[in-house]
Amino acid sequence: MRTFLRWLGGVSWVRRFYEGEAVILALHRVSRTPSLMGSSFCLHPERLQHLLLHLIKKGYTFISLEALLYALQADHPLHKAIVLTIDDGYADFLEEAYPILKQLKIPFTMYVVSSFAKKELFPWWVGLDHLIQERHKFILEGYSYEAKDWKKKKRLFSHLQRRYLRESPHKACGAIESAFRKAGLPSEKLYEVCLDTYALHSLSQDSLCRIGAHTVSHPWLPSLDWEKWERELSHSKAFLEAVLQRLVVDFAYPYGGPQDIPTGLERLLSEIGYRSAVTLRWSPVYRAHRSSPYRLPRRVVNASLAAEDFHRPRWRRMA
Ligand SMILES: [Zn+2]
Repeated sequence: MRTFLRWLGGVSWVRRFYEGEAVILALHRVSRTPSLMGSSFCLHPERLQHLLLHLIKKGYTFISLEALLYALQADHPLHKAIVLTIDDGYADFLEEAYPILKQLKIPFTMYVVSSFAKKELFPWWVGLDHLIQERHKFILEGYSYEAKDWKKKKRLFSHLQRRYLRESPHKACGAIESAFRKAGLPSEKLYEVCLDTYALHSLSQDSLCRIGAHTVSHPWLPSLDWEKWERELSHSKAFLEAVLQRLVVDFAYPYGGPQDIPTGLERLLSEIGYRSAVTLRWSPVYRAHRSSPYRLPRRVVNASLAAEDFHRPRWRRMA
């Protein structure tokens, strides 16, 4: 079946039907240190470079999010266009990914969590990943955990990640910070995982870079009420605008799956002054997406991603 679909995706009219106007790619961390979350969360810089060169060789052009939104609104056809986006604003971006993007002149939009940039919170999942990798045994919120090999560590990570995903980010950060201290790990390092305001400001001076908002605390939005959504959406925007001295009008939903986006949020995004929002649902961008700028689909980059994935036939053409 897979071989058949791959063959079918190569037929030119089928390909044109499925590949749409453009593809928005989503990156998280780019680092040489492996993550228990796998390559869809943490990509090796050599793999990133290899993928970008492969896409360029296959005839794809990297355009800015701005250019994509403009083409959709003006009804200008696009062909083989890719928009690159980066979530959460990890500090290793500057060392590992930025030089590659600069060299290949690839524009990108980075979605920043304002409390990570302010150093008030940190991405607790990165702390959890580090804790499990560094210690075979540890205490977390009074419970003792043990995982010795990579497979067991991965399993333990997914179990604990699921548990904290629905908790408040403040609670998750507090629990992991205290477990770090108990395990004798440097908890202050947790706050260095993301880019600070100074780095974001200088990055934003580069014409290749656009900064978008990704909430204040990276919560699981369905667990909050309307008032808190409003705070997450408007305070992150206002904070970034003050730091960058420019408008911030693009947004990325935390987690971004269908079950992570509450209904009614699109209206709020528009009222607050956002012009676009990206999900993590996989589909190319079709011309029909001009009427849903707050539901733009994205494809998460992982180590096995290839150009052929962009036009492989799917059950549903829209996401
Ligand atoms: Zn995120």
